[in-house]
Amino acid sequence: NEEVFRRTEKLNTVGELAAGIAHEIRNPLTSLKGFLHLIKNGELKEEYTDIMESELDRIEFILNEFLVLSKPHLTKYNKKDVHVLFKQILPLFKTQAAYKNIQLVTEFDSEELLINCNGNQLKQVFINFIKNAMEAMSSGGVIKIECKKEHNELCIRFIDEGSGISEENLKRLGEPFFTTKENGTGLGLMVSFKIIQEHGGTIQIKSQLGRGSTFEIKLPFG
Ligand code: ADP
Ligand code: MG
Repeated sequence: NEEVFRRTEKLNTVGELAAGIAHEIRNPLTSLKGFLHLIKNGELKEEYTDIMESELDRIEFILNEFLVLSKPHLTKYNKKDVHVLFKQILPLFKTQAAYKNIQLVTEFDSEELLINCNGNQLKQVFINFIKNAMEAMSSGGVIKIECKKEHNELCIRFIDEGSGISEENLKRLGEPFFTTKENGTGLGLMVSFKIIQEHGGTIQIKSQLGRGSTFEIKLPFG
């Protein structure tokens, strides 16, 4: 029972998107106002300022995600070695992987895989996929990352042993604000799909409930 989906673009109408952003930003703003009010009334606790800081971080994070979508024509592209991009991001996950009993395994079929891209954006996609895989693996396991030259494309697969995704949810991936997590934003995949689309690539997702998921990116060489 395997599901295959191809999504390169799933942006809703401007109205829906605007409503979503407004909603996501209003929540932390309301909370910030509440705490500010308490502080004005003389109740200053360190706990309050910590919450306020994390609410501000959340607003900043959401806005940063949307900046990627706003000016695609200004994105700079150069030749980057995908191997190097991974070397730059994998250390970020070391502590958390150990803590969650997750092994990150990489398999590159050649030393150098040069691709014309915006390195920071591709790294953002890789980070999003690895984070999601780790968040889906509550009881540990292996996340395998494969990079291969297939025909004239670079094929990057993220194979996890996580919860898998139901057929119903699979259809909704990439919708802005679609999340099944208590503290999720539901923006990671939307932004990732958009970035890969702008690179002329595609994303394919296969998943089996209870067994795991594979997120596959294909990018054209040259
Ligand atoms: P968020 O991580 O904030 O929820 P994303 O856009 O990154 O937002 O992901 C949207 C949803 O897609 C997640 O809430 C989760 O339900 C599902 N998902 C994404 N990647 C995986 C994965 N590797 N395994 C299981 N579910 C996933
Ligand atoms: Mg995510």
